[in-house]
Amino acid sequence: MPQWSGQYKKRAWEASTRPVRRGRLTSLAANVSMAGPRGLRHSHMKLKFWGTRGSIPSPGPDTVRHGGNTPCVEVRCDGTLLIFDAGTGLRVLGNHLLRASRGQPIKAHLLISHFHWDHIQGFPFFVPAYIPGNHLTIYGSEGITQNLEALLAGQMAADYFPVELREMASTREFHSLSEEEFFIEGIRVRTRFVNHPGMALCYRVDHGGRSFCYVSDNEPQYYLIRHSEDNGAISKRLMMDIAGGRLGLSNMDDGLVSFIRDVDVLIHDCQYTPEEYSRKVGWGHSFYHFPVEVALQANVRSLLLFHHDPTHDDAQVDRIVESCREVVRARSRSLECRAASEGMEMDV
Ligand SMILES: [Zn+2]
Ligand SMILES: [Zn+2]
Repeated sequence: MPQWSGQYKKRAWEASTRPVRRGRLTSLAANVSMAGPRGLRHSHMKLKFWGTRGSIPSPGPDTVRHGGNTPCVEVRCDGTLLIFDAGTGLRVLGNHLLRASRGQPIKAHLLISHFHWDHIQGFPFFVPAYIPGNHLTIYGSEGITQNLEALLAGQMAADYFPVELREMASTREFHSLSEEEFFIEGIRVRTRFVNHPGMALCYRVDHGGRSFCYVSDNEPQYYLIRHSEDNGAISKRLMMDIAGGRLGLSNMDDGLVSFIRDVDVLIHDCQYTPEEYSRKVGWGHSFYHFPVEVALQANVRSLLLFHHDPTHDDAQVDRIVESCREVVRARSRSLECRAASEGMEMDV
């Protein structure tokens, strides 16, 4: 998305000024909720990264450590399986689920941030979706012209793929989301729109006293607004802000800070260096100072840098991690900061 479309601008601005509707239990909650949050004792939340790359798969010897598959994160909350995004990493997760299930039915909740290719291309290759008896509940924000099912089915239309969505033999439910709160098998989930072409959802999960946020694709809105108002002068302003140790935040960015406050783990877009960003304003992604700033302001315990640029090799991703740690040190703060890497597992 090389240009910031008028539609993107309008929706970004509207979202920045729209209050988050918290506490609204929708009909969705009635459908998927059990008895509300579980007891706090003996609860576990575990993450595994199956895809961490942004934009397009980038396999090869230069991306072996951090991975080439596009976004897919498995989250286990006790016995419940949540999957964030259906990038090409979902194919590998699907094969793992088949082996682990030993023929037993698979039940999964797939929460999609948005429907750009890198977040859905694994779905046609998710083998559990083809097996009768498996149950998938799919969540996401509807498009401007298409409903949720149509958004997913489009990439499997006959011109693009040999099997259509309706031919998949699993049972599927679709739940359209806006900014809201709901429960999945007693697990508290909240959503918020973030700043990305066409908009994207981010998710917060709280369960058993543990919490994490998934913010896969997000551009700091402040710089987008300044770029527009200053007639393209973002580069100078950005560099001055960074040199001065301060980053501007818009209302929407402030809202994000509130949304993720005190989470144990934040997974956040970290696609660019500041220099790269200054040439890619409006493409919908963050330069590395932004997730660090947001994480520090929100009192996050651990930051996982995500959606690595396809042109960045492992060494470049490592340099970005080190740069983030330098920012944290310069602020005399403590924040665990790592790159999300394919295959990485962590207890929240
Ligand atoms: Zn993406
Ligand atoms: Zn995107």
